[in-house]
Amino acid sequence: MSTLTQEQLLHLGERIRERKALLLQEIRTALAGSSRQQYAELLGEGGDAADESVASLLRDITESEVIRDVGEVRDIVAAEQRLAAGRYGVCIDCEAPIDPRRLEAYPTAKRCIACQQHREKTRAASKYTGR
Ligand SMILES: [Zn+2]
Repeated sequence: MSTLTQEQLLHLGERIRERKALLLQEIRTALAGSSRQQYAELLGEGGDAADESVASLLRDITESEVIRDVGEVRDIVAAEQRLAAGRYGVCIDCEAPIDPRRLEAYPTAKRCIACQQHREKTRAASKYTGR
């Protein structure tokens, strides 16, 4: 069970909803900015090497922005599901309550600080040995 008060839950839920709306708007703009992508494609066609570089740069920017936003929306939807299930603010690994200050800074946090640090450490290690 989380230690959050009803008031904190409502407040964080509201922030999550606002963030989601903003991100969806950004994604929509970025996808509509396929006009930017079209521009990039236009540049790519029959242009010189510099034009092609610019075109692929623009494509990369749009793509990486959208991928980042979509990743965050996924975190937000997961947080909403935990809210709905009454499991918000509870670490998904050790089931300890997540520090409210951590949630305030990072409302989609799904792990307590200890588990998150552990995960980052093991992740970094596996990435290192993976090379
Ligand atoms: Zn934990």
